[in-house]
Amino acid sequence: MTDQAPITSLDATPALPTVKVLTPLPIAMPYDYAVPEGMTLEVGDFVEVPLGPRLVRGVVWPPPKPALKAEATEAASKPIDPAKLKEIKQSFPVLRMASDLIDFIDWVAEYTLFPMGTVLRLVLRSGAQLDAPKAQIGYGMAEAIPPAMKLTPARQKVLDALRGFNAPPSAKELASRAGVSDGVVRGMADLGGLQRLETDPDAPFEPPNLHKKGKQLSPSQADAAQYITARINEEKYSCTLIDGVTGSGKTEVYLEAIAAALKADPKAQVLVMLPEIALTLPFLQRIAERFGAAPAGWHSDLGMAARRRVWRRVADGSARIVVGARSALFLPFVNLKLIVVDEEHDSAYKQQEGVLYQGRDMAVVRGARAGFPVVLASATPALETVENAGLGRYGRVVLEGRYGGATMPDIGIIDMRSAPPEQGKWLSPKLIAEVNKAIAQGEQSLLFLNRRGYAPLTICRKCGERMTAPDSDTWLVEHRLERRLVCHHTGFSMPIPALCPHCGSADSLTACGPGVERVAEEAKATWPDAKVEIFSSDSVFTPQATQALLKRMKEGEIDILVATQVVAKGHHFPGLTLVGVVDADLGLAGGDLRAGERTYQLLSQVIGRAGREEKPGRALLQSYQADHQVIQSIASGNRDTFMAIEAAGRQQVGFPPFGRLAALLLTGDNEQAVNDAARLLAMSVPAADGVEVWGPAPAPLYRLRGAYRVRFLVKSRRDISLQNYLRDWFGTVKIPSSVRRTVDIDPYAFL
Ligand code: ADP
Ligand code: ZN
Repeated sequence: MTDQAPITSLDATPALPTVKVLTPLPIAMPYDYAVPEGMTLEVGDFVEVPLGPRLVRGVVWPPPKPALKAEATEAASKPIDPAKLKEIKQSFPVLRMASDLIDFIDWVAEYTLFPMGTVLRLVLRSGAQLDAPKAQIGYGMAEAIPPAMKLTPARQKVLDALRGFNAPPSAKELASRAGVSDGVVRGMADLGGLQRLETDPDAPFEPPNLHKKGKQLSPSQADAAQYITARINEEKYSCTLIDGVTGSGKTEVYLEAIAAALKADPKAQVLVMLPEIALTLPFLQRIAERFGAAPAGWHSDLGMAARRRVWRRVADGSARIVVGARSALFLPFVNLKLIVVDEEHDSAYKQQEGVLYQGRDMAVVRGARAGFPVVLASATPALETVENAGLGRYGRVVLEGRYGGATMPDIGIIDMRSAPPEQGKWLSPKLIAEVNKAIAQGEQSLLFLNRRGYAPLTICRKCGERMTAPDSDTWLVEHRLERRLVCHHTGFSMPIPALCPHCGSADSLTACGPGVERVAEEAKATWPDAKVEIFSSDSVFTPQATQALLKRMKEGEIDILVATQVVAKGHHFPGLTLVGVVDADLGLAGGDLRAGERTYQLLSQVIGRAGREEKPGRALLQSYQADHQVIQSIASGNRDTFMAIEAAGRQQVGFPPFGRLAALLLTGDNEQAVNDAARLLAMSVPAADGVEVWGPAPAPLYRLRGAYRVRFLVKSRRDISLQNYLRDWFGTVKIPSSVRRTVDIDPYAFL
C-alpha cells in the first residue's frame, strides 16, 4: 500500500484524473475531486469545488504522508470510483500556494490537533481574494479647466483636496476629504474638469531600496549583525536570539538581517512579527525610513480592501517586507526567507481562540521545515528560549547596555507593610515624595498598574454580594468614567445600579481595590496642578489615538501618565525619569505556571521606560511581598539568577520546557452533560509511562457566557508524543455533541 498507488478504474470509460482538495472547513483531510477535461492542475493551485449544496474555494493538496496520518492513508487507499467524484468547478491561475506553506499547514494541524481544514482557514477564508480585482475609477486633475465649468467654492475645494493624494482617489474619498458630496466630484468629471482614471485596487507595494544604508552600528551591534548575516548566507534553518535590554539597539541589528536576506535573493520575502497592533504603526514608519518604501502591514484592524491587497501582494511575491501580528504567519508567502519575532517572550503570541497555536513557536517551526533562518528578539526572553539557547539549539547574540551608553534605572522596593499609603489610598508616602521631586525638576512620571477600569470588584457593604456577570463567574469591573460595570472576559456590561440587586439596599455598593482610573483620580487629587492622563485599552481605542497620546507624552505635555501594560512596549519617552509600580505583586498569584516569569518580564519592561540618554531614571516597586523572589530579582536586575531559579522550579515538576503540557477543556450549556462527559473521559484515561493526567476539575471560571467548564491537564515527558497519547484517549470515548472538547497544546491560559 503506497500513497502513489494508481486509482483503480472501475469503469470502462477512461477516468478523469483526480486530485485532492482541502477546503477551509472543519474537516480532517482533503477530499477527492475529478479534474474536468482541459483543466491542468498542480498541487497548491487554488480551486472552487462543490461541497454538499455549496461551492467552496480550497487548495489542491498533496496525497497524505503515510507515516503521519494513519486514518487518512486508510481512506486514501480505498479504491475510488472517479465516475462518482464531483468535478472541480474552476481554478484560479496566477496564484499558487507554496509547498512549504502546505507542509506547514499539515504540521500545525498534526501538532495542535485541529482539523487540517480549520488550519487552512487561517490562510484562506472565503477565498474572495482569488477573484481578479475589479478595476476602480479614480479621479485626477484635468489638463485644463474647461470654460463650461464654473469654479464654484465646492469645486475649488475638490481641486484643493485632490492635491493631497498620491494615487487617484475614488469619488467618495475625494468628496469626503473636500467636505462636499460625491455628486460634485462626478459632476466635475462629466464636465471634463476632472479626469477619470482606472486604478489598481491592489496597488503593489514599493520595492525596498537595498542601496540605502542603515545606521552606523556600534561594535557590539556590528558583531551581532555579522553573526546573523552569516546565518542568512548559509541559506538554511537556524534560530538566533538577539538578547539585549530595551533600547540596546536590537531593532537596528535585525534591520540589517532583513537587508541581508533581501539582498541574498532578489525575490526573498521577509516577515517581521510583533505582538500588538499598537506597535505595528510606528514600526511601519521605521521600516519605511530604513528601506525607503512602506512595507505591507497585517493586523486585525485592517479593512477588507487593505487585507485583500496585502494578501494578493504577498501571494504574488511582490510584497517583500511584511510586518504583522501572529496571524501574518499564515499569509500565502511564496518565497519566505526570514522571520523575525520581536518581543518573542510576549504571551500575545499565543492564539487563544480558534486554532490554538503559539505564534513564536510556529514561526520557528515554519523556518525549520522550510529551511530558512528565524530571529527572535527580546529584552526578557522566555524561559523556553533561554533554555534552547543554553542547549545550543538556538544561537544567541547579546547587546550589552543601552545604545549610546544610556544607563539603566535605579530600582528600589517600597515595602508596603512598613510604609503603607493612607487609608483608602494606593500611593505610599515614599512614592509621592519621588513624584514631587520629578515634578519639581520638570520631569515626567509613570504610575503603572496593570488593571483597567476604576475598581476590579464591587461588593455590597450590607449583604456582601459580589457583582458578577449574569451568566458567568466573573467579577464586574467598575468603569467610573462610563458609569458602567464591565466584564473583561465576556464584554458584558451594565450601568452601575443604584440599589444592590441582591438585598435592595441603596448606596451600599462599594468599589474594592484600584484600577488605573482610581489611581489617576488619586494622582489628580494629590497633584492638582499636574497634567495627569490615563493610558489603557479603554482610554484610547484606535492606533491613531494611541499615537496622539504617545506624542503628547514625548513632547512633555503630560506630567503623570497612569497606565496599564499597553505602555510597556516599544515606546521611548525622553522626559520620563520615574516609574512607580503601584502593585508589583499583581500577577504573582494564580495557578499559572508562567505567573512569575510574566511578572518579571512585564515589570522589567515597564521599568525600562525610565531614563534615557543623558538623564538617569528611577523605578520604585510598591510591594507587600518585598522578599518574594520575583520582586527581589527585578530590584537586583539579576535576570540570570531569576531564570535559573524559575527553571529549577519547572524542571522539578516537569513543566515546559522540561516536559510537555496540554489542557483539555470541556464546555457546554448542559451542566450534567459536561460533567458526565468529564467522568467518561476520566474513566478511560490510558495508562502510559511518563504521562500524567490531572482532572477533571471545575475550571476557575466554572461558568462563562452561560457555559459550564471542566478542565483536564495532561503532562508528559519531552520524548513522548502528547498528540498520539491524546488521539488514543479521545478515540476510545464518544462525547455527546452538546459538549465541546477543546485541546490546547502548550497552554498559556488556565482559567
Ligand atoms: P531595541 O530594539 O533594543 O529596543 P532600538 O533598536 O529601538 O532598540 O534602539 C533604541 C534607540 O537607539 C532607537 O531610537 C534607535 O534609533 C537608536 N539606535 C540604536 N542603534 C543605533 C545606532 N547604531 N545608531 C544610531 N542610533 C541607534
Ligand atoms: Zn446587598
